[in-house]
Amino acid sequence: MTTAAPPEATERLRAAGLRVTVQRVAVLEALAVHPHASADTVFSSLRETLSGLALPTVHGILGDLTGAGIVRRVSLPDAGSALYEVQDEFDNHHHLQCVECGRVEDVACATGEAPCLHPSHDHGMRIIEASVTYRAICSDCERNK
Ligand SMILES: [Zn+2]
Ligand SMILES: [Zn+2]
Ligand SMILES: [Zn+2]
Repeated sequence: MTTAAPPEATERLRAAGLRVTVQRVAVLEALAVHPHASADTVFSSLRETLSGLALPTVHGILGDLTGAGIVRRVSLPDAGSALYEVQDEFDNHHHLQCVECGRVEDVACATGEAPCLHPSHDHGMRIIEASVTYRAICSDCERNK
């Protein structure tokens, strides 16, 4: 018997028009606890509590949630696989990523609206957003150098 889901994840699913399932709620909650998690990380954090959960199912759920706009897929240059986080509307935040250990932190956009950077030449395309990743070295890695 699973414990009742806190209303938040359930409400997010309903608001997005998705059927509420135990597995979807669990994936959303795992992402709330571990932002910027890969499908593997989500899977390993849930496999003990959700018996019968398989990695392809996690990929499928992440795809559904991303498609519905309640999860954001983040591709970072130094991450081995795509990372996921719960998305609150379109907040246009950016990421700081340690190039040594891969630690990822959110940073608010300096201008607060997308696109926050404009190219010198747009080649006739309408710019939607600038995907900004600050590549950095965290203080732990700096210390261990
Ligand atoms: Zn680091
Ligand atoms: Zn983020
Ligand atoms: Zn920005």
